[in-house]
This record gives sequence, structure tokens and C-alpha cells, in this order.
Amino acid sequence: MLRVREQRNLNWLTSEVIFMASNFLKVSCRDCGAEVVIFSRATSVVSCSVCGATLTAPSGGKADLIGCNVVEALE
Ligand SMILES: [Zn+2]
Repeated sequence: MLRVREQRNLNWLTSEVIFMASNFLKVSCRDCGAEVVIFSRATSVVSCSVCGATLTAPSGGKADLIGCNVVEALE
């Protein structure tokens, strides 16, 4: 649980998307089950910070979910 929370904080801090209209998804990594909050219109590949699996890749302005399942949509 703690690890997930740290990851999330890191994502928030390092991401420029916090300045944009938000459309966030909480996803869980299919490989290790870690939960990560991602921006649904992320313009770069998002990797799991626990196991390194690719979670999403940009595709036509909307991130493609590759190695993760959506847990919940956040506004
Ligand atoms: Zn993972």
C-alpha cells in the first residue's frame, strides 16, 4: 500500500499533466498488480514503476491501455 502511494505522489510531482484539464484513470498493472494513477491523454509511454511493464502508450490523443486494467475513473 505504501509503495503504491509513493508511486502516485511521484507521478503527480513529475507530470506536467497536472496543469491540464484532468481526466485520470486508476489502473492496475497486469503483471504485478500495482495500482497507478495515469492521465488518460498521456503523450508518452507510461511504465509500471514496480516491474517496468508498459502500461499505456499514446495513440491519437488518447492513451492506449496495454498492460493494465482500469480500476476506476477519476475526474
Ligand atoms: Zn507492474
